[in-house]
Amino acid sequence: MTALKNYQMYIDGQWVDAEDGDSFTSVNPATGEEWARIPAATAADVDRAVNAAHRAFTSGPWSTMLPTERGALLRNLAELMKKHSEMLGRTETVDTGKLFTETRWQAAYLSNYYHYYAGLADKVHGATLPIDKPNMWAMTVREPLGVVAAVVPWNSQLFLVAVKIAPALAAGNTVVLKASEHASAAMLEFGKVFEEAGFPPGVINIVTGTGDPCGAALTSHPLVDRISFTGGLNAAQQIIRNSAENFAEVSLELGGKSPMVIFDDVDIENAVNGILLSIFSATGQSCVAGSRLLIQDSMYDQLIEKVAARAAQIRIGDPLDDNSQMGPLATLGQLERIEETVANAIENGATLVHGGKVPDHTDKGWYYEPTIVSCPSQNLRIVREEMFGPVVSALKFSDEEEAVALANDSRFGLAAGVFTRDIGRALRVTKAIRAGIVWVNTYRVVSPMAPFGGFKDSGHGRESGLDAIYDYTRAKTVWLNTSPDPIDDPFRMQ
Ligand code: NAD
Repeated sequence: MTALKNYQMYIDGQWVDAEDGDSFTSVNPATGEEWARIPAATAADVDRAVNAAHRAFTSGPWSTMLPTERGALLRNLAELMKKHSEMLGRTETVDTGKLFTETRWQAAYLSNYYHYYAGLADKVHGATLPIDKPNMWAMTVREPLGVVAAVVPWNSQLFLVAVKIAPALAAGNTVVLKASEHASAAMLEFGKVFEEAGFPPGVINIVTGTGDPCGAALTSHPLVDRISFTGGLNAAQQIIRNSAENFAEVSLELGGKSPMVIFDDVDIENAVNGILLSIFSATGQSCVAGSRLLIQDSMYDQLIEKVAARAAQIRIGDPLDDNSQMGPLATLGQLERIEETVANAIENGATLVHGGKVPDHTDKGWYYEPTIVSCPSQNLRIVREEMFGPVVSALKFSDEEEAVALANDSRFGLAAGVFTRDIGRALRVTKAIRAGIVWVNTYRVVSPMAPFGGFKDSGHGRESGLDAIYDYTRAKTVWLNTSPDPIDDPFRMQ
């Protein structure tokens, strides 16, 4: 057994252990072996991190730095993301099981996010108001909020960090990042890259540990002004409660159960590729996974057969191997939950079309086959609960009205896919679906320029795009009396 790699947290520009020396281990999902030791932050560690962020916001070089200079630092970071993309990608792959082909590409692509917000840093401005009073000049200035608590899950950590910190820092805030206890290493490696970019101490602090005490201490801390959370429903509910302690603004990027609506006029090859992309890439461990497949009845059998045939060809294996096309699930708990939910669906009348088990050739790690389950109705748990794995439930619909009704019959509303060659229908269905992102004849495309976020229980607030930077600022209104005369004595009797 190889020695564990020891990591430290990044607080106030220093690399530190937890104050009580406590730690936990991180496991490689491809082998099931422990590979890294991570500090378990206490509430006192979190308090130090938040105070460091608060000091950096209120005093020190960051607080007086010109927006253009903040942009220049973000550009340094953007270039370093490309330089270190192999190292960052490899770490994320070892820690989460996500394919190295994807993680190293994604780490390099994140450079575009930092460049985009670097460019916006000196373009956030207020307005001069055409006010309804004589001798008054009124204007707004946009100011940063203060300390941002950014809490992220284990999947796509570096991406989720970028969409939070790039706009937050461009706007002049400081940040305390909380990594997921299931995969903290990539975030700590990112901290080294961030340090190399030349930001002053305290601008970003990275704490590691469990939801409670680490996450709870952070999101209820009185010096936190804004909470940006990505994760599941239970933690989100706790965080909303925590924010009653500090009245911090909260944005939530939560789970999904996104429908893929396939009409019978589609280009069948495009639809098959879209379905594979939506549910089996990243082993289905994606908040936007297209996990509810809705197919028009006249082409149901034909399409399901083709998707199953392609799913059977997906090469499952070591995520570090460029020949692998699907890696393992990130945790053993995930694997067990998925096995149980698939079994429950079959017991309740669903038919297994493909997959539904651990692949025969794997003897270690937490692998699961790409799985297609044909379902008689949307009442089954497999159709209603987020699976966060390579499992798709398939159902038939007869017409546009039924397709929209089924698509919207979910507590979630993060994303949807609509596949049709009829442009009028594409627009009608897109409008009718209650989801934050609708992809037409494509899926899973993201960009720094395009807002990202959900409807309903998928959360609120938007990340990426122009508006995200305004979200990390607030307006201050300034009134200026331009009259040469003294203001009226409010108590003089007329
Ligand atoms: P999770 O909710 O269990 O954990 C997310 C983070 O919250 C972790 O860092 C965790 O330690 C922290 N946390 C837990 N309890 C907390 C508390 N009481 N106070 C403060 N912090 C707390 O989620 P997970 O299982 O790691 O990730 C999977 C979930 O994330 C899925 O539901 C997925 O859909 C969602 N997700 C959403 C998006 C999006 O952009 N909408 C993106 C990726 C993942």
